[in-house]
Amino acid sequence: MRLCDRHGCEEPGNCPAPKAPNSPERWMFCQAHAAEYNRKWDYFEGLDKAEKEARTKAERSETAGYAEAQHYGWGGSGDGSRSADEMRALDVLELEADVDFPVIKKAWREKAKTVHPDVKPGDVEAAAEFQKLQVAYEVLKSAEERREWRG
Ligand SMILES: [Zn+2]
Repeated sequence: MRLCDRHGCEEPGNCPAPKAPNSPERWMFCQAHAAEYNRKWDYFEGLDKAEKEARTKAERSETAGYAEAQHYGWGGSGDGSRSADEMRALDVLELEADVDFPVIKKAWREKAKTVHPDVKPGDVEAAAEFQKLQVAYEVLKSAEERREWRG
């Protein structure tokens, strides 16, 4: 059994938490430490300045609180149905609630490709859109992983 990555914690580590934005590397924490990490996690850490400004701007203009998606909400609804964060993430990807994860991944890839910083260097709006897609994908991927653990 994998233990929580928090030093000295003996609980099972079954909550993945990204080590950095856009990084596939994960910490594996217990529920309590994942929540603690999430509260303290500086989402902007590791993003460059332009992206940070673009994201701040995007968040201001979309007050409705997409930002809260970064606080994944580990609990979920518990019955396998989509959480509010997932619904919002699906909305960003323009997908229906009942799509499978491979469909989500494909939609995310196709959309991200068009606004990727390599494709649109220096374009702050594209950078903000790209970041939004990343967050949406992370939300949906985490949810998918939680479902897998439940079996
Ligand atoms: Zn722990």
